[in-house]
Amino acid sequence: MKIRVYGHFICPWCQKELTNCAQIIWGAAGESYEMGQKLRWYQADNFTVNPNTYYGDFLVNYGSPVYNDVLAFDVVEYSPESEWVCRSCSQVIGGLAIKIVNQIIQGYKVFNCTEIRTLLKDEDENIEVFILKEDTYVPYKFPDEFGMSTNTKTGEIFKK
Ligand SMILES: [Zn+2]
Repeated sequence: MKIRVYGHFICPWCQKELTNCAQIIWGAAGESYEMGQKLRWYQADNFTVNPNTYYGDFLVNYGSPVYNDVLAFDVVEYSPESEWVCRSCSQVIGGLAIKIVNQIIQGYKVFNCTEIRTLLKDEDENIEVFILKEDTYVPYKFPDEFGMSTNTKTGEIFKK
């Protein structure tokens, strides 16, 4: 269900590879990408993209294509509760974010813990995605952690 992005994600402190696969939740569920590829969205029968959508019982879209500058954090390693430490230099990694600009998987950024705290500001939740608004990245809130969703066929809102 998560979205895989393959690449060489380098530790900024020792220049060794941290991982070769980041798993994010943004775009059509279950897709895989290399760097530079265009993000895909599941289209409904009328060719529209419904944000944060289930189709029947299947989650098809995480987030929304209306945002042009997105930081989608690796959701496997990134967690405020657990530490991610570089295997080579033991530096504590705050998080690894995939940068999606104009729907292109453009690059990535490795954050240290201070940068993560700056990004989170007063948020105490686990935020997976940030969107650029007026020169500042702000947390993107998924609707009720996908607990509630809209059935694209019937339009009815149902509890997962
Ligand atoms: Zn390192």
